[in-house]
Amino acid sequence: MKNIVLLGATGSIGKSCLSVIRQNKEDFHLYGIGFGSNVDKAQEIIQEFNPNYIFAAQSQADRSHNFWQVNSNILSNEDELQGLIQDPNVDIVISAISGFAGLKASFFAIEAGRTILIANKESIVAAGDILMPLAKKKNAEIIPVDSEHNALYQCLPLEKNLNEISKILITASGGPFREDSLSDLRGVSLNDALKHPTWSMGAKITIDSATLVNKCLELIEAHYLFNIPESQIEIVVHPQSIIHSMITFIDGSTIAQMSNPSMEVPISNALGMGKRLPINFKEIDFSELNLSFEPVAHDRKMIFDIAREVCNKKGNLGVIFNASNEIAVEAFINKNIDFVDIYEVIQRTFNCFSCSKVRTIDEIFEYDKEARIQAEKVIKSLH
Ligand code: NDP
Ligand code: MG
Repeated sequence: MKNIVLLGATGSIGKSCLSVIRQNKEDFHLYGIGFGSNVDKAQEIIQEFNPNYIFAAQSQADRSHNFWQVNSNILSNEDELQGLIQDPNVDIVISAISGFAGLKASFFAIEAGRTILIANKESIVAAGDILMPLAKKKNAEIIPVDSEHNALYQCLPLEKNLNEISKILITASGGPFREDSLSDLRGVSLNDALKHPTWSMGAKITIDSATLVNKCLELIEAHYLFNIPESQIEIVVHPQSIIHSMITFIDGSTIAQMSNPSMEVPISNALGMGKRLPINFKEIDFSELNLSFEPVAHDRKMIFDIAREVCNKKGNLGVIFNASNEIAVEAFINKNIDFVDIYEVIQRTFNCFSCSKVRTIDEIFEYDKEARIQAEKVIKSLH
């Protein structure tokens, strides 16, 4: 029986994780959960899974809710979160908080040498230079949950001989605006941007999918997780989201991982750690399948250029890219900027910084703060 701490339990990834755990109760115990402010959902989870510990991050959560009366073991500050993650009874930490807010949890887990299932790609993008060497030093195993990276993880030869890889192909659905040129996107509504054709996810990642910034984050994530130069990573648009990514090896073979789009598939793979766990899934009907592939639209190339620069220069550039995107997406969701301005905010913020080395996690937080301030200034200048 493995004890799991699931951070981001009330979210979309959290829901899929709980479903996999529910289907494999004899193997996993939900030891702890963490969430932001959705006390209704948290209470449902507590009633079903009875976790030993509950971490509730956000003080604005409704304090009159009976959640606060019926649960006595609520943790709420960062030290308590760290204590939970470092509890020797914990076997697996799932990092599924959304955005940069998930970094502390990823850092605590890696620092404690825990096995970490990483959905929170923003941690790796912003702090890859700190987290990857730390994981090596502390012997922390990082297992990717993001469907593309889990697909690559499944395709990698067991001995992980990276010299045998010719290139990695990360697939992209293309999002709701795949067929539109950038100039057609001025004025698109939040609702249009939230209509993802193949995946149902949290709001922030859904907007990232519409801008293709999600794919940029995934490019950087793959670069760090698999230690592969960006020049060996290709993005290919595959609207059906059946092939989740592929590796071409030096002998000309390409291996792909396929499933109908469901996050339960990569989550069960990650939780199984080498063992295939039984879950309910919808089989691919190959007789109905029509797979297509196309390059990324040329007018979105500028955002991939930034992501590739992040991979090549590293240091503080990942955290700046991530922070500028988070501020831009928030401004779009709050209807303060246009959809296409997201690109403008990222580019202009990114260009305000030069590349510097980062040595500590605190420096990452400093750069994050500075980049957010700069991105807010850019947004003001757009009005
Ligand atoms: P959601 O918005 O659905 O869920 C986010 C979760 O994080 C919620 O449980 C939320 O709590 C919690 N949370 C938010 N802020 C904080 C905070 N400050 N402290 C603690 N908990 C917090 O996001 P997703 O599940 O879609 O995404 C989660 C992560 O997984 C992201 O990094 C995303 O990029 C990644 N991912 C998601 C995929 C998907 O299919 N959804 C696919 C691949 C990667 P509450 O709601 O209670 O406030
Ligand atoms: Mg993905």
